[in-house]
Amino acid sequence: MLEMLKKIWHNPRLRNKAVLGVVLFVLAILLIYSLLTREPPPPEGAIRVVICEDCGETYATRIKDIDDPGDKRNKCRVCGGKLALAWKCRECKFEFPENKIASDGKLDNTMKKYQAVVNANRCPNCGSLATAPMSKDELK
Ligand SMILES: [Zn+2]
Ligand SMILES: [Zn+2]
Repeated sequence: MLEMLKKIWHNPRLRNKAVLGVVLFVLAILLIYSLLTREPPPPEGAIRVVICEDCGETYATRIKDIDDPGDKRNKCRVCGGKLALAWKCRECKFEFPENKIASDGKLDNTMKKYQAVVNANRCPNCGSLATAPMSKDELK
């Protein structure tokens, strides 16, 4: 074995061939390895609890951008209506679609902005501010 290696090493043509062979072999191994270990891309978006603004259906689904009207994942699975992130009141257990905070330039005043944020979190049923986005565990 060693004799053969020595012979190859002292013959430049054989040596080049051997080196080329080794390089190709290593490249092939690397290619196969990278193909085998390549992970599938992670699915886009996060699992969020959504509520249909039309029929009130509440369920968990993967949402990338809930404001993107072109994304069919933002349509209700029951009626095809518009989905919003589901919020829940801790006081009265009322579930409601997240209120969008208007950002059309009318909220130039900091106090108005603050009040808009506060009002967006207010429960539409009992007026409590103890509201939060729903988690999957809260689904029945
Ligand atoms: Zn619906
Ligand atoms: Zn409430």
